Amino acid sequence: MHELSIATSIIKTAEKEVENGDGRKVLEIYLEIGKLSGVEIQSLNFVWELSTNGTVLQDSKVIITEPEGKAICAECDTEYPLEKIFDCCPKCNSPFKNIISGKELKIKKLIIN
Ligand SMILES: [Zn+2]
Repeated sequence: MHELSIATSIIKTAEKEVENGDGRKVLEIYLEIGKLSGVEIQSLNFVWELSTNGTVLQDSKVIITEPEGKAICAECDTEYPLEKIFDCCPKCNSPFKNIISGKELKIKKLIIN
């Protein structure tokens, strides 16, 4: 499962951070998961509790932000919201674009105790 490997990698990163920061535990974790990242938050929540059990992330507060998809058309420079990765420009119908947000998948901040 995709979400399980994401949870595992988040845990690994968090454990390293806690070790480097001389802490014992993560109090709060801020995640940024873009709407176009392909991650299902529901599935992530589902595997989260089990995966974090016994780790530095056990009982941590999880705050997730989901940046909306946004793109700039490569043909006419129009900026438009991107709901799906293959959406075309609403002005000129071009499929070519630069995605400027929505693909984020990262730990934004950790509050360590
Ligand atoms: Zn366009």
